[in-house]
Amino acid sequence: MSFQQHTPPSNGKMIVRSLLRRCPNCGNHQAWFVSWFKQGERCVGCGVKRTRDTDGHELGSMTIASVVNIVLIMIAIGIAIAITAPDVPVLTLYIVLASAALVFPVLTWPMTHTLWMAIDLILRPMGIDEVAEAQAWLADQS
Ligand SMILES: [Zn+2]
Repeated sequence: MSFQQHTPPSNGKMIVRSLLRRCPNCGNHQAWFVSWFKQGERCVGCGVKRTRDTDGHELGSMTIASVVNIVLIMIAIGIAIAITAPDVPVLTLYIVLASAALVFPVLTWPMTHTLWMAIDLILRPMGIDEVAEAQAWLADQS
């Protein structure tokens, strides 16, 4: 069992951890994920609550997912057109990119949640009460 550190990690460290699908707060590799798609209530490493008791917390990760995947598709379209111009195979491109539009969100889904948590923790650092609640939850787990 490891307890929540009282001083938060640097902003850069939290962002890097989140991009590696780790808890931005403690770096635990499982964070609050039970599986790739299923999430538990709290990080198993530090006890930070996944939604941090805010309504609509998922909207942040959904926004990140939308932006990231639209950018990935736009980059793929740009590369494909640059490589194949002037004879752009539109139908093939459409089929490949439509498939990518289905696969990219699946691959990036957990990281959009950890990245949003990192941004949320940077903008709203854990307070004393939240840290105490997380530590109490961790103590109950042992
Ligand atoms: Zn954690």
